[in-house]
Amino acid sequence: MTTASDAAKRLQAVQARIAAAALQAGRAADAVTLVGAAKAQPAALLRQALDAGLRHIGENYLDDAIAHQGAVGREQACWHFIGPIQSNKTREIAQRFDWVQSLDRDKIARRLNDQRPDDLPPLKVLVQVNISTEASKAGVAPDEVADFCTQLADYPRLTLRGLMAIPAREHTDAARQLSTLLQTLHSDYATLDTLSIGMSGDLEQAIAQGSTMVRIGTDLFGPRPQ
Ligand SMILES: *Cc1c(COP(=O)(O)O)cnc(C)c1O
Repeated sequence: MTTASDAAKRLQAVQARIAAAALQAGRAADAVTLVGAAKAQPAALLRQALDAGLRHIGENYLDDAIAHQGAVGREQACWHFIGPIQSNKTREIAQRFDWVQSLDRDKIARRLNDQRPDDLPPLKVLVQVNISTEASKAGVAPDEVADFCTQLADYPRLTLRGLMAIPAREHTDAARQLSTLLQTLHSDYATLDTLSIGMSGDLEQAIAQGSTMVRIGTDLFGPRPQ
C-alpha cells in the first residue's frame, strides 16, 4: 500500500531530478514539464500525486482515463493522451483531453478537429515521430514530419505545439535529433515550444538534449500493477 507521504516523496524525488537536469543544461528548473504516465495505476495513487502537486497526467487508454477522471475530477489536472488512437475513440478524446501527444495520422487529426467541442479551447497536439525508425512503432517518419505538420494547418481546432517520441532504448541521441527536427519546423510554426521525450530511465539524458516535457510512470507511481 502506497501512503500519501510515499507518493509525495516519489514526486519530490522526480521533480528534483528534473530540476537538476534542467539546471545542468543551463535552463530554468521549471523549464521542463512533468507528465505522470498513469497507465494501469489505481486512481487513489493519482489522487495522492495530485494532492502532492502533480499537475499533468498522461493516459494511454481511454477507459483508464475515464475511470481516473471520474475518480479524481476532470478539473484537477491537465490531461494528455499519449497512447495509440483508434478512430472510434476520437470523439471522447476530443472532449476529455487538453493535449494529444500521439498524433501520427491525418484521419485522426481531422476527426479530433471536427469533434473538439466549441466551448473548449483548441486541442494542443504533438506529432509523434518514429525517431528510431522502427518498423513496428507508431509515429510519423522523421522525413515526413514537415509535410504532416503542413496538413495540420488546415485544422483550426488543433494547435500544433511540438513533437513527441518514444525512442528505442539504445538510441541515446534521439532527443537531440528530435530537437533538431523541431528547430527546422520553427520558422513555419510560431506555436512550437514542446519536445516530449524522456521516461523514468532516461529523463536526465533527454533533458540534457533539449526535452521540455518528460513522461514518467514507474519512478513516479511505482511499478505498474499486472
Ligand atoms: C508508460 C509510458 C511512459 C512512462 O514510462 P516509464 O518508463 O514507466 O516512466 C511514457 N510514455 C509513454 C507513451 C508510455 O506509454
